[in-house]
Amino acid sequence: MKNPSQQSPTAKTDLVEEVDQFDAIIIGAGVTGLYSLYRLRERGFSVQSFEEGSGVGGTWFWNRYPGCRFDSESYSYGYSFSEELLQEWDWKERFSGQPENERYLNYVADKFDLRRHIRLNSRVASAVFDEDANRWEVLLEDGHRARGQFLITSVGILSAGYIPDFEGLDSFKGNWCHTGRWPKEGMDLAGKRVGVIGTGATAVQLITEIAKEVSHLTVFQRTANYCAPLRNGPIDDEEQREIKASYPEIFKKCMETPGSFVHQFDPRSAMDVSPEDRLEQYERLWKKPGFGKWLSNFYDVMLPGEANEDYAEFVRNKIRERVQDPVVAEMLVPKDHMFGSKRLPCESGYYEVYNQDNVLLVDVRQAPIERITPRGVQTADAEYELDVIIFATGYDAVTGSLNRLEIRGQGGQTLKEKFANGPRTYMGISSAGFPNLFTVNAASVGNFVRAAEPLVDWVSEAICYVRDNQFKRITATLEAEDAWVNHVNEAGAKILRTQANSWFVGANIPGKARVLLTSPDSAPVMRAKRAEVAANGYEGFLLE
Ligand SMILES: Cc1cc2nc3c(=O)[nH]c(=O)nc-3n(C[C@H](O)[C@H](O)[C@H](O)COP(=O)(O)OP(=O)(O)OC[C@H]3O[C@@H](n4cnc5c(N)ncnc54)[C@H](O)[C@@H]3O)c2cc1C
Repeated sequence: MKNPSQQSPTAKTDLVEEVDQFDAIIIGAGVTGLYSLYRLRERGFSVQSFEEGSGVGGTWFWNRYPGCRFDSESYSYGYSFSEELLQEWDWKERFSGQPENERYLNYVADKFDLRRHIRLNSRVASAVFDEDANRWEVLLEDGHRARGQFLITSVGILSAGYIPDFEGLDSFKGNWCHTGRWPKEGMDLAGKRVGVIGTGATAVQLITEIAKEVSHLTVFQRTANYCAPLRNGPIDDEEQREIKASYPEIFKKCMETPGSFVHQFDPRSAMDVSPEDRLEQYERLWKKPGFGKWLSNFYDVMLPGEANEDYAEFVRNKIRERVQDPVVAEMLVPKDHMFGSKRLPCESGYYEVYNQDNVLLVDVRQAPIERITPRGVQTADAEYELDVIIFATGYDAVTGSLNRLEIRGQGGQTLKEKFANGPRTYMGISSAGFPNLFTVNAASVGNFVRAAEPLVDWVSEAICYVRDNQFKRITATLEAEDAWVNHVNEAGAKILRTQANSWFVGANIPGKARVLLTSPDSAPVMRAKRAEVAANGYEGFLLE
């Protein structure tokens, strides 16, 4: 490793092996990959990122479907590491859309001169740890190889798209795509008969937009979700100035909240106030933009129990008010899971779509999809003729993107084998038997960038510690890992996120072990735990 003044910007080439050599290899160039690259380069490491896509941005590169946008407040999602960037970039909307988000991440890549360290169109097929050399060897699908002492997988929590294994998809005569691989040139939907499979957060955004242009829309719903109004709007000049002047306060607030959002829970219990006061708060928050409806609500709305059910009924009634046909309304009202136990979609006119004559809602729990036919979708009840099928069927979350590449550690064990019954990590970032590997994609939740920035900072400092103390490798101990896995299972059992069959627990993927895929702890608790580990000389890690 070199210090920054010695570092050459380009890869060195090992003439014997003809393999590019780096201090650190990063897989992925989304928000986490870009920041990892920036941070490690700033700390004097030679770094290379390999990205499958033809552009940077990750989620915001791939998800080009109509309606794709933040449900985090834009200004709370952007990077905080550069005051100059904060002052230069104008977020135009309160909840910015995909094109703008992609532009932002490209702006960051250019501003900080990150592109020269990124190889696009480069899908990593495998990463194998060389135990003698203490280096990871990465093999790309195009045959290119590179070696690095450290490997950082910033491959995304929601990047491995999932399409159910429907029989007959190949026979379909029309066009189809998954929302997470929306073609750059777009999909021609105007005047077409379109089917959307899925009604999660993505589908809710997509359906609302495309219902404006298709000739007929069929929505195949397995689970009705609680959705709440996003209430997006432009940020005017005055608000822009206010935001830019108060970034320190905005970020401070985010760092204090459990999910790193700008919204702070009301410390009162919903059940301790009068029914009138309770309803007044529900209604007041309902009129506000974004996640405040639940994250600024009585704290126990987001805990299993009476308050949660009380608020759930409030939301159900809001849905009933907006859908004209009472039968359709009841189909859209969630009754099989607690409010907040699944990802909460935000909408901008979603329920009104079902008042259109050209929109049909099909309950595939009652009559499951049997196969895709040349003409459309066959359920147990009927065949639906379609020109286009859109799979809004979600992701093999958190571990999917890791399992889709072969990561081989000590003794030839693969991470996929090791994770067969759920992720086995220490704090989400490190796994025993996989030295110098940091699975940063597996450790951030909530308002993503607020959680990812401190995590990447921590990983960068851990790597500096290895370098500065002349160690060759850092590996989680099995004891630390076992204790962490037990903690995830025990603490996880008590939180709302494990109560429903959602991607948080892998329940959307047939055969996937049903375990909490992320930390059960709040963001401030996680940061404190990591800080303590570092302060104690990387307790729980073996340094050799
Ligand atoms: C539609 C959608 C909306 C979202 N909205 C929000 C929001 O409003 N607020 C919020 O906080 N979070 C949101 N999220 C979560 C979002 O994923 C994160 O906010 C964030 O973008 C994740 O960044 P990342 O860099 O960790 O991963 P990603 O952005 O997923 O990037 C991972 C990158 O790794 C690449 N990659 C994966 N495997 C390989 C491989 N083998 N070889 C090479 N490259 C590889 C992928 O191509 C991808 O570009 C949303 C997610 C989705 C899908």
